[in-house]
Amino acid sequence: MPAFIGVDDLTSMVFDVDDLVSKFQLALYRDWDSVEDDPRTCASIGAKLCTYKHWFAADNFGPAPHLSCISMSPGLHKKLMRFRLSCSDLHVNTGRFVATPREQRLCYCCVQEAVEDELHVIFECAAYEQLRQHKYQHLFANGMGANRNLKAFMSLDSAQHSIARFIADVFKLRSQCLSGSNV
Ligand SMILES: [Zn+2]
Repeated sequence: MPAFIGVDDLTSMVFDVDDLVSKFQLALYRDWDSVEDDPRTCASIGAKLCTYKHWFAADNFGPAPHLSCISMSPGLHKKLMRFRLSCSDLHVNTGRFVATPREQRLCYCCVQEAVEDELHVIFECAAYEQLRQHKYQHLFANGMGANRNLKAFMSLDSAQHSIARFIADVFKLRSQCLSGSNV
């Protein structure tokens, strides 16, 4: 096999596709199974993968439920995906860029002195309690809020639009909160 493989080389090579797929699957399952159990206590290395696995990933590597919501606007979809992929402006994410220790990436919209992560803003932060109790009461009155099971909450097939709107409203309120506190 040449040291460097170009497109022209590939045309003359024979691949065992089943073998390749099998190898990729084995590597995927091995890495997936080795992810730590709790996004809040896991090591920094691999923390985003740990967050995705335990709070957002569909079981059995199935498609995420929001992907079938073709009527969702691109803007709303983008906000939802950024949240799901730990690419939002939450302090737990932005603190990575400046090496702030995770336990110091606090929420500035409440006085709970909690890390501002996805679980906090969805279920815990007092700043969004009015949203939970009124406008989005239908999302939080079915037991998911009480259980604080983020993965189950984010997997509600029939509620992806409402979940996306709730997240968008949370960030709108958060922006107002932060501009008011000059943080
Ligand atoms: Zn908070």
